[in-house]
Amino acid sequence: MVGSLQYGLSGPMDCHVYAVRGPEGVVLIDSGAGTHTETLLSNVREEFAGERVKALLLTHAHLDHCGGAAAMRERTGCTVITSELTLPIIESGDEEASGLRAARLQGTYPAEMRLSPCAVSLSFADGGQFEAAGIPFRAIHVRGHSRDSFCFLARIDGRDSIFAGDVVFYGGVLGVINVEGSGMEGYRSDLHKLQGLGIEGFFPGHGLFAITGGQRHIDKAIEQTKKGFIPRQIGQGELLF
Ligand SMILES: [Zn+2]
Repeated sequence: MVGSLQYGLSGPMDCHVYAVRGPEGVVLIDSGAGTHTETLLSNVREEFAGERVKALLLTHAHLDHCGGAAAMRERTGCTVITSELTLPIIESGDEEASGLRAARLQGTYPAEMRLSPCAVSLSFADGGQFEAAGIPFRAIHVRGHSRDSFCFLARIDGRDSIFAGDVVFYGGVLGVINVEGSGMEGYRSDLHKLQGLGIEGFFPGHGLFAITGGQRHIDKAIEQTKKGFIPRQIGQGELLF
């Protein structure tokens, strides 16, 4: 982890930013909000001396995850990789579609926060497979937190791992928030895609992560939904800020 508001690694609006070393350089998962790009890069240097940021994967178009994409691309020349749903939002800096406008009105972000447009080099659809810095990733589309939310699967240090964005958090907490595009309906359609993956490393965009036994956090949410219940949500328990 090279960025995070919760662990005090970078800016106050940054999701967890993960860095993975591949054969061709470093892959970042999400960029943070863009206020502390230099801090992220200095953390990358500290962790992976002499390695270059080769690729940036974005889980979805919320500001705390993608606001720093343009600055990161400019500073490192990295390849920016998003889903085909996130792509048009990022490339045009669409603050309506990203939810930034609504989030500003709700007071989640200061009035001056903007989404800088960022060119995307590669995009994928549900189930899409691609390589970033020589590491193979698979993307899984899980709606519910936002329409464009994707999880990334990869084998990291010999363990099947998931970068879950804001789809599912530690303890089986889901990411439903009170904004347009978010709701249980998406989870009802898509959450089952995360079943039976044998996940060890569990790396969500906020809160606690786990190096082993990751699947149980996902399964906990799936079990609840199968019984007809709504799992706990991100807003319950001050998990975010
Ligand atoms: Zn989000």
